[in-house]
Amino acid sequence: MSGTRRPLKSLGQNFLVDGNIINKIIQAADIQQDQAVLEIGPGRGALTSHLAERAGWLTLIEFDHALAAWHRDQYRENSAVTVIDADVLKVDLAALLPDVPQKWNVVANLPYNISTEVLFRLYGVHNRLARMTLMLQKEVGDRLAASPDCSEYGVTTVLLGLWFDIRRVVVVHPGSFHPSPKVDSVVLNFIPRSEARAEVGDEDLFRAVVKSAFSMRRKTLYNCLKSAEFAKMMDCGELLEACAIDGRRRGETLSLEEFALLSRRVTDLLRAATVRS
Ligand code: SAM
Repeated sequence: MSGTRRPLKSLGQNFLVDGNIINKIIQAADIQQDQAVLEIGPGRGALTSHLAERAGWLTLIEFDHALAAWHRDQYRENSAVTVIDADVLKVDLAALLPDVPQKWNVVANLPYNISTEVLFRLYGVHNRLARMTLMLQKEVGDRLAASPDCSEYGVTTVLLGLWFDIRRVVVVHPGSFHPSPKVDSVVLNFIPRSEARAEVGDEDLFRAVVKSAFSMRRKTLYNCLKSAEFAKMMDCGELLEACAIDGRRRGETLSLEEFALLSRRVTDLLRAATVRS
């Protein structure tokens, strides 16, 4: 891109300049002919031209108005490319990624400051995705692969682990970007599972259970659950007892299967309460 201004730190603009890493991301994305691809934060287009060459349709969401305008101009004669000048956190992804037989392939070198929030949003549309290939700060990537009781284990580990098989593609060092970030990054492939890793009952309740269990890391699981909205309708002591989970444990010690058990029980209790009322 010619005549560029300085990268904006506030938008996490660390642009990829390493051809080897760019190739690895494009290979890992495994774009099928005629597939719809979504790139979040195309920036100066390090990945975009490769995606445009391979995809059936390409949608770009870029919050930097100047860069969005530049992409619009670049692809003005290519009707397969759509540029959305917007904050990805304000875009209704469910409306953007319609439930068509053709699922979407998401590719992004995510801005660090919003990567966890973007992961939650993509988790919310997991059933519309064929694959995701995402560059994340390494620490965030490590969290996704963490086991219970590690300090990295958190909400994203449990939620994304329910629906995706996550594979590390490559660790990326600061020198592969301009400007160089202070930390390492990692490219991960997220392959949606045909079935969830565990039966959770109502998925919104599963999300609420997991979020509440991690809401106060120093407090016991019982105390965390007690202050959740769903818990107003039930006795958390009885809930935990019915699941044979010790309420004195911390949320971060629960396995995905234990979260699923809790969530199923919460779902049953709330359904029963609705029937009674
Ligand atoms: N894809 C390019 C690359 O690999 O060189 C740029 C990656 S850079 C780490 C992140 C990009 O996301 C920037 O272009 C930035 O302007 C854009 N961005 C930052 N916040 C955004 C947001 N909330 N919504 C959409 N794009 C955003």
